[in-house]
Amino acid sequence: MSMEPIVLATANPHKVEELRAIFAGDGLAIVGLSELPGFPFPEPDETGATFEHNAAIKARAYALLTGRLCLADDSGIEVGVLSGAPGVISSHYSTDGRETGLTRDQRDQANNERLLRELDGVLPEQRTARFVCSMVLCRSVGKSTTEILATTSGEFQGRIGLPGDVPRGENGFGYDPLFLVPPQFNATSAQLSPERKNQLSHRAVAARAMAERIKVLLEQAAPH
Ligand code: IMP
Repeated sequence: MSMEPIVLATANPHKVEELRAIFAGDGLAIVGLSELPGFPFPEPDETGATFEHNAAIKARAYALLTGRLCLADDSGIEVGVLSGAPGVISSHYSTDGRETGLTRDQRDQANNERLLRELDGVLPEQRTARFVCSMVLCRSVGKSTTEILATTSGEFQGRIGLPGDVPRGENGFGYDPLFLVPPQFNATSAQLSPERKNQLSHRAVAARAMAERIKVLLEQAAPH
C-alpha cells in the first residue's frame, strides 16, 4: 500500500467532488481519472450483472492502466415495484442499457421521464426505491495481474415522487430530482445541500466503510 493519492476510477465530476470531501476527513487524497496524464483512457465494458461486479471490472482495468492503487464505484437505483429496475442499467435506463450519443444531462432527463412513466398509477407508499453503491479497491501486481484489496457497499432508502410534485431541486445528478428523502418524504435528494447528501448517501456509506478499510490496510503495511 502506498500513500500517494488513490485514483478514483470515474470521469464523473460529481462523484469526484463527493468522494474527495468524504475521504479528506480521513486524511486520504483522491485523484480523478481526468487529472492524470494519459487521460482519456479506454473505458472497460461494464458487463457485470451486479454493482459489485461492475465496480470490480473498473477497478481492475484502471489499476492495470495506471499502475496505481485504484478505487472504483458502481451505483444506481432499484425500485421495489419494478423488481429492482433500473438497477445496473440506471445510467442508460431510457435506452434499456444501450450507449447513446446523449450528454449526461440529456440522459438523466430521459431516464427520469421513463422512470415516472413506468410508475404511472403506483401509489406513494408503493413507490419505494433505494440508491445502491458498491466500491472496490484494487492494485496492480506486475503488468497483467490485479489484486482486490477491499469491497464495501452502501444504501440510501427513499421513494420516487409523483409526477407534478417531482422533478424538484437543483443539486446532485441523475435520479436525485425524483427521490424523496425519509422520514418526511417532502424534499428530494436534489434539494439536499451537498454536505447533507454526503452524510446520507449510499456512496457516503460505502466510502466511509472503504476509508476505514484503507486505514487498516495502511497500518498493516506500515513498518513496525
Ligand atoms: P455509474 O456512474 O455507472 O455508477 O451509474 C450511476 C447511475 O445511477 C447514474 O447515472 C445515475 O443515473 C444513478 N445514480 C447513482 N448514484 C446516484 C445519486 O447519488 N443520485 C442520483 N442518481 C444516482
